[in-house]
Amino acid sequence: MATKRERREQFLKENPYCIFCGENSRKTTKEHSPPRCLFFNKHRPKSHEFNACYKCNNGSREQDLVVSFLTIASSNVFNDFDRAKSDYLDKLMIGVSKYAKWVLDMLEEESGQHYVLKDGDWRRTAKIMMDKRLVVEVLEPWAAKTAIALWSEQTCERFNENYFVSVNWITNASTLKGSYPAEVASALKKYSSLKQGSWNTADQFQYIFDTAEENLFVVLAEIHLSHLFLASIGKIALLDERPELRSWNNFTFNKEERLHKILQAD
Ligand SMILES: [Zn+2]
Repeated sequence: MATKRERREQFLKENPYCIFCGENSRKTTKEHSPPRCLFFNKHRPKSHEFNACYKCNNGSREQDLVVSFLTIASSNVFNDFDRAKSDYLDKLMIGVSKYAKWVLDMLEEESGQHYVLKDGDWRRTAKIMMDKRLVVEVLEPWAAKTAIALWSEQTCERFNENYFVSVNWITNASTLKGSYPAEVASALKKYSSLKQGSWNTADQFQYIFDTAEENLFVVLAEIHLSHLFLASIGKIALLDERPELRSWNNFTFNKEERLHKILQAD
């Protein structure tokens, strides 16, 4: 019997199509999701690699940069922050100031520091405010795209206009306020992270997932032990059967608008 890795390799070979838009063109590129820049010094296990068309692969570089910067800056590791990590954060900040300066301006205005108790020690951590523009333009679309990749990794499916992906971003600040979705987390039984041999980057990105119920893939991902996103993926028709899913931030795909938000019916 083929191993999971062999089945995936076979799938990628037989389906040289974009996992985000289902583009039937064979001109595909290799997409790393989560992206390489999310990992310190872009040092990332050879894992979670996908076929993607040029447009989908290159459409979210600024989002990748901003998410990497925010999640590393707010990870609860400042007390043992080493020089190399700090240098990498500086590099990301230069990138953000070049491509998305508004994010830095927003942080200066609204963010600060707070202390959290971790492993018996009080640790300093950056407090990132949930600015609406940041959520709508960066965090949610990034989570939607990453969730599609995780789903494809686990199910060997590719996304198209018949599917929706719904997302909910949870910052460290909201986690501290007790909105961590503990019930959802306990319902998700399968665990995964990026691994290559014995090298595991779970401290930078890890996720739990399940097809908690039939036809609905649910995933909770944790990034640099600081931010989380909760996402689910199913066929669009399920939104009619399960109206409560409509209260989430739902995205779908079409050729004109690419990955875009589904407007909520009142
Ligand atoms: Zn595509």
